[in-house]
Amino acid sequence: MPKRSLLWFRKDLRLHDNPVLHRALQESDAILPVFIIDPRWFRKLPLGFRKTGANRTAFLLQCLQDLRERLQSREGALLIGYGHPEKLLPELVREYQIEAIYTQRDIAWEERRSAAAVQRAVAPLGCLFNREWSHLLYHPDDLDFSPQQTPATFKTFRKHLRRSRVRELLPEVARFPLLPPKEEAPLPGLPDLGLYAEPQPAYPGGETAALQRLQHYFFDTEALTRYKWTRNQSLGDDYSSKFSPYLAHGCLSPRLVYRENKRYEATVRKNISTYWLLFELKWREFFQYLGMRHGNRMFFPEGIKGRERAWKEDKELFERWRKAQTGIPFLDAHMRQMNQTGFMSNRGRVNHASFLAQEYGINWTWGAAWFEARLIDYDVCSNWLNWNTQATEQRFTNPIWQSKKYDQKGEYVRKWLPELRDVPVPQLYAPFTMSEEEQAEHGVKIGEDYPAPATLSGKLEWAVKRL
Ligand SMILES: Cc1cc2nc3c(=O)[nH]c(=O)nc-3n(C[C@H](O)[C@H](O)[C@H](O)COP(=O)(O)OP(=O)(O)OC[C@H]3O[C@@H](n4cnc5c(N)ncnc54)[C@H](O)[C@@H]3O)c2cc1C
Repeated sequence: MPKRSLLWFRKDLRLHDNPVLHRALQESDAILPVFIIDPRWFRKLPLGFRKTGANRTAFLLQCLQDLRERLQSREGALLIGYGHPEKLLPELVREYQIEAIYTQRDIAWEERRSAAAVQRAVAPLGCLFNREWSHLLYHPDDLDFSPQQTPATFKTFRKHLRRSRVRELLPEVARFPLLPPKEEAPLPGLPDLGLYAEPQPAYPGGETAALQRLQHYFFDTEALTRYKWTRNQSLGDDYSSKFSPYLAHGCLSPRLVYRENKRYEATVRKNISTYWLLFELKWREFFQYLGMRHGNRMFFPEGIKGRERAWKEDKELFERWRKAQTGIPFLDAHMRQMNQTGFMSNRGRVNHASFLAQEYGINWTWGAAWFEARLIDYDVCSNWLNWNTQATEQRFTNPIWQSKKYDQKGEYVRKWLPELRDVPVPQLYAPFTMSEEEQAEHGVKIGEDYPAPATLSGKLEWAVKRL
């Protein structure tokens, strides 16, 4: 009897360079591609918001639509279910007489628990459960340390990477024997998932969009050549690659980014920028491996280094922060952008994590949960371990000083905070310093049109004096 397999897509929503798909096709006579939307992703947290918000969900649905169309063009389809995978997948195994499930290997606890529950549920049906790494740049088997011994510093981690290699891309799949699903339900709408906000994700989801973005950033605009000098900005689309939402959903293989970067170096230009993009991609890799080493500790308030601190649990202050009401324009502009579009620049994220933990002294895990809910590029390890770093390891990043450095003319702030559009720099960096006459002259009343800061520590005052 021919071997029928089920391909359980998760955060690997692509057909190119996908080790799970590749192995499933090699070992099966026919495969049934499936994605399960789990209602637990949308549960309400005690902090008062849902674990996954409207923008990331809209982005995910676009990824699924695109994957479905790509499979349809190969005379297949994508079966999309809604429910608990450990309940739905055994039903499909029975219905389609599936002998093996193929899926991605995960790092974080919730994803691993979900996979383990499926494995347990299908084992009595005689169904095999196979997993492959599909979101890493370096395969763990190719490194000279085990994930549990991942070096504590990025510098040492990079030294080890030098002794390894990035595997070649998997060849294009020619043979695509897909099992047609008996029925192909339409994609759910956001209200079906309990989400009522109007989504406006900053970028379109899906593998097609991911490949277009790669072509745009590298070869069409050659923006890559300028990356090192533009990457700390926040305004516009091309100051950085915007690959993160695609990498997070697995629409883009990190190995493809690596290979295309090398091709760019060989055919267009090799400079510090081409080096730096891979340097950043290695940061992503570092956090994946640190996640494997530290497991659940990445979610603990004391962080992976066990630095105990009496964090405040001040809900009122937290609400101000997440609703873009800190009174510091550089922060509020970034938060407004993320709340509306699901994207925030790296500069904004660094400033926000540092501010919430070190100026407000608020339990940083609350902030990480807010980013998790809002970001379209949310990735467990990148998010929680970057928060760990900014909250418990790095020195304070001063947002007033940073606005002077990274938004010199105030263009970014004016885009997202139009109520401050007539305030000139340097007052725009700290509008609460304006006298009543100045406020009247520039058309804004602090405390009414735009908030005054809730706190003003010595560190912020230091920056104000030097504006
Ligand atoms: C508090 C905080 C939370 C973050 N949360 C996430 C998250 O949930 N998901 C996520 O992908 N990134 C996260 N980052 C990292 C970084 O901000 C984003 O990867 C980057 O802004 C995405 O934009 P880009 O693709 O244009 O990046 P580029 O500057 O073009 O970089 C290219 C790629 O390198 C990787 N990268 C760059 N910087 C980092 C970094 N510091 N850590 C890990 N990978 C990096 C990303 O995959 C990125 O797509 C976070 C950073 C901070 C400080």
